[in-house]
Amino acid sequence: MSRARLSLSGCNMLECLPAFKGRRASYRNLSGLPGWEGKQKIRLYENCNKIYKLFNRRTVACNVEIRSDRVMKKKTIRDVCLKGKKVLMRVDFNVPLQDGIITDDTRITAALPGIKYVLAQGASLILMSHLGRPKGKPDSKYSLKPVVGVLSDLLGITVKFADDCVGEDAQNLAADLQPGEVLLLENLRFYPEEEGKVDVSGLTSDAEKQAAKSEMKERQKTFAATLAGLGDIYVSEAFGTVHRAHASTAVVTGFFEERVAGFLLEREIDYLSRAITNPEHPFVAIIGGAKISSKIDVITNLIDLVDVLLIGGGMAYTFYRAKNLPVGNSLVEQDKIEVAAEIMERAEKAGVSLLLPVDHIVADAFREDAKTKTVEESGIEEGWMALDIGPRSVQKFAEAISRAKTVVWNGPMGCFEMAPFANGTMSIAQAIAETDCVSIIGGGDSVSAVNKSGLASKMSHISTGGGASLEFLEGKELPGIAALSDAV
Ligand code: ATP
Repeated sequence: MSRARLSLSGCNMLECLPAFKGRRASYRNLSGLPGWEGKQKIRLYENCNKIYKLFNRRTVACNVEIRSDRVMKKKTIRDVCLKGKKVLMRVDFNVPLQDGIITDDTRITAALPGIKYVLAQGASLILMSHLGRPKGKPDSKYSLKPVVGVLSDLLGITVKFADDCVGEDAQNLAADLQPGEVLLLENLRFYPEEEGKVDVSGLTSDAEKQAAKSEMKERQKTFAATLAGLGDIYVSEAFGTVHRAHASTAVVTGFFEERVAGFLLEREIDYLSRAITNPEHPFVAIIGGAKISSKIDVITNLIDLVDVLLIGGGMAYTFYRAKNLPVGNSLVEQDKIEVAAEIMERAEKAGVSLLLPVDHIVADAFREDAKTKTVEESGIEEGWMALDIGPRSVQKFAEAISRAKTVVWNGPMGCFEMAPFANGTMSIAQAIAETDCVSIIGGGDSVSAVNKSGLASKMSHISTGGGASLEFLEGKELPGIAALSDAV
């Protein structure tokens, strides 16, 4: 029998398991649910409807963890009356396109539960998003039009489209929208006001630069006010952009009385806040990726919270230098050796067990077909670079993970994009999949490694925002979340 884990955060649980409202529950408590016969498999939990369906179909069984304690401090779509309202929802439909065809619709499907809920409440919905980097002007390569067909198919209704996110057409289409109908606006980033960036390179004096910035700020406000004019309630579902104070993520909220989170955002906040405010112990953080410089703040914020800190990837070799261990030609950030030493000192003082790789897969070149060998801790010779953690490190890290109740993972253990150096990262994904812990995966590359491993469904939460999840774990206030109405 395969094992799966059901890890529901407060929101999802209240939605789909009303029998457990306001309670923590173990799998045994599920016996109170209609259709439960003691041994049933509950597979995926992204979407509440799915869980119900699976219950009713009575598939096979396993390990269930339900968490009902809410940590969400912001209002959500459940906290406001949506009936008859026009909802302006910021989504992240920044999907990959090839010749105008969407090659991966994950971001669209991720927003579906929130979209369906809003429509089911009798509201009409205006969706806005960015796609790619069109540099502040219309560019058909970055049009959101290809989303219309996919979204219409997924929702089973005809989604309307406005060729311009602002202007008379958008206003008329939004005004005519009936309850249950959806309008998608064209790419917000066809306007420079969305990001609010100003090119000051041609300006010489500080006064000129300041004036240009102030002018853009004003234009951004006007642009946001125009977007706000389309709806009655603002909903944020674009976690990937909440760390940016853009017109559609932050400025626009100033024009709404009700500014609430959708399900996707709620789930992100719920998992990530739990990890940094009230994690279950042992708490293991796995930090990897190319450079220590991009992860210093997250390590610093997590160090007082975790029991074990596993360091892998390229950044491990800056720690190696700080310990005076040989690194050969491995990636080292010379100016961060001191920082690595400080982190190790802090970990020791805090009683955190900081584990570095104890062996390595080294290569004679940064290439897939390079000559490779496995070497021990102090065996990295000149002319060789460590591109993955070795088998003993995998075992050591996996042991620590097997005892964890909470795991946060950001950054791969090696150059997993090249097959000879993928084992460390894939084995860590496997080790996490085999535990019953709450596992949170953030960071673009770690997420793509987990997806590649085929183990994504075994993780409790895979964040939809690389930069945003990193900033959240760093303890920073994210403008797109801070701007939402507080829960009462
Ligand atoms: P993102 O920054 O996109 O959110 P992430 O946080 O998951 O992703 P990064 O910090 O960007 O991860 O690092 C990922 C990169 O690190 C990968 O491209 C990988 O090849 C590289 N990397 C991992 N280990 C090593 C190593 N030992 N030497 C050099 N590069 C490495």
